[in-house]
Amino acid sequence: ETEIPQDHPRYQSLITRHRIEEGVDTGITSPQGLIAEGRGEAFDYLLGEKTTSSADDAARAAAALLLHAEHPVISVNGNVAALVPEAIVELAEVVEADIEVNLFNRTEKRMNAIADHLYDHGAQTVKGLKADDQIPGLDHERGTVDADGIGAADVVLVPLEDGDRAAALDAVGKREIVIDLNPLSRSALAATVPIIDNVIRAVPNITEHASALKQADNVALTTVINRFDADEVRERAEQEIRRGELRSS
Ligand code: ATP
Ligand code: MG
Repeated sequence: ETEIPQDHPRYQSLITRHRIEEGVDTGITSPQGLIAEGRGEAFDYLLGEKTTSSADDAARAAAALLLHAEHPVISVNGNVAALVPEAIVELAEVVEADIEVNLFNRTEKRMNAIADHLYDHGAQTVKGLKADDQIPGLDHERGTVDADGIGAADVVLVPLEDGDRAAALDAVGKREIVIDLNPLSRSALAATVPIIDNVIRAVPNITEHASALKQADNVALTTVINRFDADEVRERAEQEIRRGELRSS
């Protein structure tokens, strides 16, 4: 255990990195997850490690989309399981979504380690282990999902998804909420609702918005969803990075 002083300027980022390292040690996160984390850190640095106003708008639209959905599913990979297991379980409860493990590098061992980790953090049911359905347009291992999970979902939250799979889910008509710090990544471009933010901040923020919108009827939810403009949000995120105001404040 390394002690990180709370007043360290990169405190949150170092805590995050440490959780990913631990995830690799316990077999939850793949070694490639370390590289994804490093890439994310670079973008988060440019955002000033803060939730921007455009990311907050996107989190609210995501909450509305999840509450309005017939069958929402939250997809979990090794980085997400290592970083925000409790927050995922809490969000799934508030919006009544399924949780499904879905890995880029699928191994039975890692699938089980992640499912167990989520159960340890209070999950009721974790899907992804039946692997009895296939998303078209992806090679077998990467397109494998549960028929009664992502296979049957109308809305999928995919934090840190890779671009190919985000595009394949989009092609079969699923509405996608993507959390990705890179506004230019293909996953962010394929999303119905792109949230350009760190999963550490974004997942609890969606839950907060969902709790506030819980009593809203379908007309009100549809209004929030229809007013949301994904292109505008990606553009604003890029401007926020370029202006660098968040870094200096
Ligand atoms: P593609 O264009 O296919 O989408 P990619 O950049 O997504 O490529 P990956 O190597 O899968 O390729 O990168 C992981 C992505 O996840 C990066 O865009 C990175 O910014 C993002 N990321 C990593 N850690 C986090 C995090 N904690 N929160 C949000 N996004 C993250
Ligand atoms: Mg991506």
